[in-house]
Amino acid sequence: MSDDRLLVVGGGQAGTQLVSSARELGWDGPITLIGQEPHAPYSRPPLSKAFLKGEASLDSLALRTAAFYAEQDIGLVLGERVERLELTGGGAGTAAAVSGRRWTFDRLVLATGARPRQLPLDGAGLDGVLVLRDVRDARTLARRLDGVTDLVVLGGGFVGLEVAATVSAAGVRATVVEAAPALMARVLSPVTARVVEAAHRAAGIRVLTGERPARLLGKDGAVAGVELEGGEQLPAQLVLVGVGAQPRDELARTAGLHCDNGVVVDAYSRASDGYTIAVGDCANLPDPSPASSPAARLRLESVDNAIEQAKAAASVLVGGQQPYRSVPWFWSDQGTIKIQIAGLARADDVVVVRPDARPGRSTVLRYRDERLVAVECVNSPADFLVVRKALASGTSLAPEAAADVSRPLKAHLAESQLGNGVTTG
Ligand SMILES: Cc1cc2nc3c(=O)[nH]c(=O)nc-3n(C[C@H](O)[C@H](O)[C@H](O)COP(=O)(O)OP(=O)(O)OC[C@H]3O[C@@H](n4cnc5c(N)ncnc54)[C@H](O)[C@@H]3O)c2cc1C
Repeated sequence: MSDDRLLVVGGGQAGTQLVSSARELGWDGPITLIGQEPHAPYSRPPLSKAFLKGEASLDSLALRTAAFYAEQDIGLVLGERVERLELTGGGAGTAAAVSGRRWTFDRLVLATGARPRQLPLDGAGLDGVLVLRDVRDARTLARRLDGVTDLVVLGGGFVGLEVAATVSAAGVRATVVEAAPALMARVLSPVTARVVEAAHRAAGIRVLTGERPARLLGKDGAVAGVELEGGEQLPAQLVLVGVGAQPRDELARTAGLHCDNGVVVDAYSRASDGYTIAVGDCANLPDPSPASSPAARLRLESVDNAIEQAKAAASVLVGGQQPYRSVPWFWSDQGTIKIQIAGLARADDVVVVRPDARPGRSTVLRYRDERLVAVECVNSPADFLVVRKALASGTSLAPEAAADVSRPLKAHLAESQLGNGVTTG
């Protein structure tokens, strides 16, 4: 039995998982979870989908019940933003909130997430220019949609496309403006990006790739449209800026922890002082995927990473020695399409397409040095499941087999595991 006090700052996906796992794994001292938002920790993915449609309530998004925190003896502190940290050595220190409240801890976890990136554009401060990160943003967006005929989304990433699909299904004319030549260019191969773009166009969304906004147009202080660099003016009563997120690492900086695009942590999620743990969207971590090169670092913004990294970090807090290794995966529901990605591909990884004659469906496998490293599926959950499992178990599949649609991928992979003309390991 120990009296060590564990303090977790950030009541989101990662912070909630961390406190749950820490208790489960045997942390028996006091645990406090502090969140700046007034609501108990909730799941963010529905904010751009079911919640925005009015099909889910905030209560239904709760990550844990109130009874859970009570039963597990986890002190949940809401509506408090920690603004200063002092580390006194060996992982201990104090945290001070804007309200003046202070907490003393023996171990600290930062799970402060990320905030939307702003666009440095003329007119960005106009009324009706919105972002979407939390439930308050989602409520504002839902309320402001009333009576809107045209909405422009700046940024063809996951959140922007999810919102475009949701509002377009509700009868709003949606236009997506993406500066890169393809949608979601950072994570998808051009082949999959084209399938996604075609699906959005078929659903009535106007998709402009390779186009940059020059400024936002206003009328009486409210946004009235977007002017593109090429001169075209897009009318809009609402503009959603969905150009990615930035880690919230300012608190870590107040404690002198090394930050560089997030709190820099090692494979055990330990920050530069060797004790403080950082998990989820705010952490800059060594690439956990089995196919990674040792020096590769990144930030991962996904529910899977928030959960798996928090589980691994909780085991470190109770004395475990296992580094965080995992095949990252991600999903995005955009109207009628479900995109699922496992593994992290690089732009120069070889693309193997598994042809699918059915519209709106696609499976693409990515190879590096002839080894399977990632899979991208659109409306192909069965393919996704088997390849994700294969990636996790280190099973590869010859590219010719991957492209052969005479048999399901499951059959090819089963054969691979038996070592039939395949690489494993
Ligand atoms: C609209 C939307 C849709 C998404 N859809 C998907 C999806 O389909 N699939 C998927 O895998 N991922 C999706 N994501 C991403 C996923 O939600 C995040 O990766 C995940 O929530 C990260 O968890 P986290 O705990 O690191 O951060 P968060 O969940 O953001 O939690 C961080 C919390 O810390 C609080 N905080 C920050 N600083 C302080 C402070 N100083 N003091 C106190 N509290 C503080 C914040 O207010 C916040 O509540 C989506 C995200 C959004 C916004």
